[in-house]
Amino acid sequence: MNATMMNATILMLGSGTSMGVPTLGCKCRVCTSSDPRDNRTRPSIAILYGERCVLIDSGPDFRQQALREGIDHLDAVFYTHPHADHILGLDDLRPLSFQGKEKIPLHADAATAAVLERMFEYTFSDSNKYPFKARVSLQPLADVTHLFGIDFLRVPLLHGELQTAGFRFGSAAYLTDMSDIPESSFPLLENLDVLILDALRLTPHPSHSHVEQSLKFVERIRPKQAYFTHMSHEILHAEVEPTLPPSVRLAYDGLRIPFAGAPC
Ligand SMILES: [Zn+2]
Ligand SMILES: [Zn+2]
Repeated sequence: MNATMMNATILMLGSGTSMGVPTLGCKCRVCTSSDPRDNRTRPSIAILYGERCVLIDSGPDFRQQALREGIDHLDAVFYTHPHADHILGLDDLRPLSFQGKEKIPLHADAATAAVLERMFEYTFSDSNKYPFKARVSLQPLADVTHLFGIDFLRVPLLHGELQTAGFRFGSAAYLTDMSDIPESSFPLLENLDVLILDALRLTPHPSHSHVEQSLKFVERIRPKQAYFTHMSHEILHAEVEPTLPPSVRLAYDGLRIPFAGAPC
């Protein structure tokens, strides 16, 4: 590890798909499983390094995830795309946003920012003087964002018809909500120690990668270790994980993955 690298940790806040697992009203064997790894909240990660905590997405389970993991401060959020399972926790950033002098930057592409501004209009409107609205500021999503010693690279992805943002940070990358990786994004994914990627279920889906396709992505990208996320109730952890090569594991809520953070 050279001098500019730093020890960092990815904390899996949520490894589940949009409806979460257990899924409301479902009595299937995964939704009723006693294995805690089959209990999947909505997809999000926190990146922890030094005293810093950077989120990728703030989903509807953010409050419970932060309580569970003892997250007590926040420095920035990156958004991947404007679907509900990735943004609905924005209002729960409020208490953490009151701590610092600066507003918490929310890095989002134009399409995501437009939905955030509409859905959380009271947060972003200057005319609303309510003192307890979230102290956050929208920032355009750059190709590279330097934050506290780590460069966050935007990795364009396709999620059905929608373009979403994956992220590379140092020796790790997080590619949630994607059905395909554009050819031009593969050069951004070379020499990874850790790759976390969407693998919704065992059978194909129009807007998410599934296990077989995600294994092909892993074969091509060749990270040292890969983890699947955004998983539905079709995936029983103890049954599916043993079918995968050792370099591919299923993520689960609360998993902590060390990696080397670095500027470009
Ligand atoms: Zn999603
Ligand atoms: Zn989505």
